[in-house]
Order: sequence, then structure tokens, then C-alpha cells
Amino acid sequence: MKTKILKKAEEIKNELISIRRDIHAHPEVGLQVERTAKLVADKLRTLGIDVKTEIGVTGVIGTLKGNHPGKTLLLRADMDCLEMTELNELEFKSKNEGKMHACGHDAHTTWLLGTAMILSELKDKIHGNVKFLFQPAEEALGGAERMIKDGALDNPKVDAAIGAHVWPTIESGKIGIKHGAMMAAPDMFELTIYGKGGHGATPHVTIDPIGIGAQVYMALQTIVSRKVDPVEPAVITIGKFNGGSAHNIIPQKVEIVGTVRTLTNELREDIPNIMEKIIKGIVEGNGGTYEFNYKPYYPPVINDNSMTDLVKKAGKEILGRDGVVTIEKPTMGGEDFSYFQQQVPATFFQVGIYNERKGIVNPLHSPYFNIDEDVLHKAAAVMAQCALTYLNE
Ligand code: MN
Repeated sequence: MKTKILKKAEEIKNELISIRRDIHAHPEVGLQVERTAKLVADKLRTLGIDVKTEIGVTGVIGTLKGNHPGKTLLLRADMDCLEMTELNELEFKSKNEGKMHACGHDAHTTWLLGTAMILSELKDKIHGNVKFLFQPAEEALGGAERMIKDGALDNPKVDAAIGAHVWPTIESGKIGIKHGAMMAAPDMFELTIYGKGGHGATPHVTIDPIGIGAQVYMALQTIVSRKVDPVEPAVITIGKFNGGSAHNIIPQKVEIVGTVRTLTNELREDIPNIMEKIIKGIVEGNGGTYEFNYKPYYPPVINDNSMTDLVKKAGKEILGRDGVVTIEKPTMGGEDFSYFQQQVPATFFQVGIYNERKGIVNPLHSPYFNIDEDVLHKAAAVMAQCALTYLNE
């Protein structure tokens, strides 16, 4: 089976590169990924795969039914790009001003189409179904959650899921796996502190929200150092702190906006309460009032052990014994693949794209980000092998 997969992957290598370049040149943001979704749906239809469109606004699901009954595995790709300007000089450079595939979702979409191309020729070998899920809006607006709410995990009911992301620090030709917590919940908060404005020369008759905000800023940082287990990762970053209009005026209010990153559901639930206690104490102790809005974004990416073992096995089959590396540390970035993990056993792995010789060295979200296209057919083959291992063994 492995030989068949590898042979087919070799055959579609160039086609995958042109698909990727087409998607790369026409990046689309958020839920508005109509062109990409149409390209995906058209390609799946030519493969004889049953296609459903407009799931979670612009999501696409292709269901490949094997010739034998069995379980259903979901394979997931994301289709959206970032709002930034590409600085690469490539013949397939972004044609859409201010939009760029700088997170490699063009590669994810392409290799999943490649997996569909490989598996559609192996239907007689498949016990069960493979659902190819292409979601919009990973970068914001939670495309995964929208698709699940729209029934993506039903008819046929999904038993397990696998997703993958290009990774610029892993060598091209290798994949990275990790058991347990892999990526953080990237939650967000907004805090407005209200004081009593007045003249900068008479602070004693005002309530200075900048002074209060500065105390709150410092105190929030003590949550990580004093309230969280020192061996458990957590981040509280304040990325926006706005207040005031002139050097001699004490303003009415300040606005503080930030992100909180955690790797466990337990800590994720605790932190907003700890924050609010500190905020309340400082603000009210100084005579001010506040509004605190904590906005949970995506849950943490926590990989299922047996699904991770499965990717390790399938990865080694396709890429060789040295082709699978273990990721030592989680990253505090987020990924909405976690919504699938809340429903079914699932794992997320990284596909190495680092290739110094080709100049592929830039981080995700860089205006110079690019991928080693030689990984597209390999990742497609790994995903195909994962599906056969899961469904047939
Ligand atoms: Mn991404």
C-alpha cells in the first residue's frame, strides 16, 4: 500500500505545485474564501467525491466512501490568508493587495486535495469513510466551530480527526509530532478603567485612571509569577494601552486590551477570575470603576495519544525512520483545530518546510514567508497513509 501511495504522490507532485501557486496568487481572508472554496469543490468533484459546500459560510466537505464499511476519519485543512502585503518577488506572488498566504494555508489546502487524489484511487482498499474538510476563517472568526455547528461531524458521524500545519523550524521532508498540549488557547480581554478627569496640576481632586491602569498593568504580570504553577506555561500580554489627550489633563478613562495564553482547560478557566479580583481591588481601592470583558477565543490544542502514535507510525512509513521528529515544547500560538479535538480523538502535527539551500527560512506571518513546495506531495502521502492506517488496522 505504501508503494502505491508513494507512486501516486510522485505522479501528482507537479499538479500540486501548480494548485498551490494558483491559491497563493489569489489569497482570500476570513469567511470570504469563495474562489478557493470553488477550486476545492471542483477538484473534489472531478475525483468522484461527494461534495457539500457552504458549510460554516464557505467551508467545503468532501466525503470519500470506501468500498467496505467502517469508521469515518476527518482530515482538515484551512483556506484563509492573512491581511498583509507580500514582499516576496515570485511569479505567483499575491495578486490581492493587502492579502497574503503567510501562514501556509495555501499549502494545507493543496496537500489535502493531494490526499483526496491519492485515496480516490484506493477506494477498493478503504474500510470506512474519509471526510476532507476545508474550513474558512482559521485566523479569526472561528471557521472550525462554525462548520461543526453546521453539522460537519455528522452524516457520516466522524470518529477521529487529523490536521497539520507547515512549520518553518522543522527541516523540509520531516514532520513533527507531539503528545498532549501543543498549542495555547489564545484568549482576549478588554478592560476600561474609569476615573474622574481634571487638571494635571490638581491630581488630588481627580481620580487618575492612568495611574490606576499602570498599577493594574504591573499587578496582572504577577499572576504568571505568583499565581500559576511555575512549571506550567502561561502568558498575559497587554498589547494596547490607550488614555489621555494632553500633557496637563488627567483623562476620564483608559483602555487596556490584551491576550491570555494557556495550555490547559483548568488554568484557562481560573485566570479570568484571578484577573478580575486584582483589577477590582486596585481600581476600587483607588476610587475608580471598571468594565472587564474576557473573550474566550479558541481552546488549547491538546493532542490525543493514540492518534498521535498513529501519525508517528504513518509518518515513518512514508518519510522513513528519521522523517518523524518529536516536538519538545508547545507553542503559545493558537489554532482552531482544537474545536475538533473537543468533539473526537484528534491530533495536529507539523510539516517541516525549512530549507536553507532554497532560502526557505522565514517565520510564519512574515511578509517573506514561503514554503518548500517539495513537501506538498509528501504531506499528501502522509495524510493518505494516516487514513489507511486508521481505517484498516
Ligand atoms: Mn495557520
